[in-house]
Amino acid sequence: AKTAGKAGFALFDPSMNAQAVERLELEGDLRKAISNGELTLDYQPIVRARNGEITEFEALARWSHPRLGLVPPTKFIPIAEETGLIIPLGLWVLREACAERRRWIADAGANPDLMIAVNVSLTQLRQPNFVSQISAILHETGTEPRHVKIEITETVMMFDAEAMIEKFAALKHLGVRLAIDDFGTGYSSIAYLLRLPVNTVKIDRFFISQIGRQREDEVVIRSIVGMARSLGMEVTCEGVETEAQLAMLRKLDVDFVQGYLIAKPLPPTAVAQTLRQGVPV
Ligand code: C2E
Ligand code: CA
Ligand code: CA
Ligand code: CA
Repeated sequence: AKTAGKAGFALFDPSMNAQAVERLELEGDLRKAISNGELTLDYQPIVRARNGEITEFEALARWSHPRLGLVPPTKFIPIAEETGLIIPLGLWVLREACAERRRWIADAGANPDLMIAVNVSLTQLRQPNFVSQISAILHETGTEPRHVKIEITETVMMFDAEAMIEKFAALKHLGVRLAIDDFGTGYSSIAYLLRLPVNTVKIDRFFISQIGRQREDEVVIRSIVGMARSLGMEVTCEGVETEAQLAMLRKLDVDFVQGYLIAKPLPPTAVAQTLRQGVPV
């Protein structure tokens, strides 16, 4: 009987079970996280490659769980997407980032053209009233659309490209700026890019990490820059960690850079100081 019991038990992978339990717990907790004030935003500067001028801050969601501590967005954003919680969460992110941006301009002497960038998921884009909700928040927070950049990962195009192209057009019409995030990681990148009214192409961190290791990746960056140029788009490189990478990206004439070398994502309290002191590049 013991052996049978053991065999029966072996049907469950205890680690899988623990993962499933944790996930269910997180899902329940995430539902309350916004109203409990457990979510915050960090802000990572994006700077002009040429001179280090801070032109925008990307808002990155942080969840401080009362028991588990910091839960990384790579863990809770997918749960938020699958449960639909990304919809209220995403609206909160935009509202919060716009309000924070106003404070930087009013109290911290930031350039009034400083932009805020927010990440938006496929689930959000699919909401029929997505564009009007964005518009309402911009109105409510006194934010001009051109001061907001919406980052959308290239992979959204894999689902319903035609619907996505329409959504992008509606956002463009509203006047917000658009960036394609994690560019180069999906498939058929170039074919879609030609049809999307985006302002910025953000080259995925992977290609930046390969600089100096893989000659081919410099070629990838060079050709994305060339293509973006001919389409009138700007190029941002994320995940810049070393001086050598920055030097190469300057040589390749990318417009904007972001990464630990320039600054890590900062809590709002550290932004004013960074705005005053600038970044070390
Ligand atoms: P992402 O949009 O590609 O954001 C860049 C990620 O790279 C951030 O991770 C950032 O902290 C990290 N990073 C920045 N510079 C460097 C660097 O030099 N080296 C390395 N290794 N990493 C760097 P984070 O904050 O953990 O966010 C992970 C992802 O979670 C984001 O990737 C984004 O897809 C998602 N995310 C975060 N906040 C939100 C949000 O408010 N809404 C949505 N929909 N997604 C979000
Ligand atoms: Ca992003
Ligand atoms: Ca990215
Ligand atoms: Ca990403």
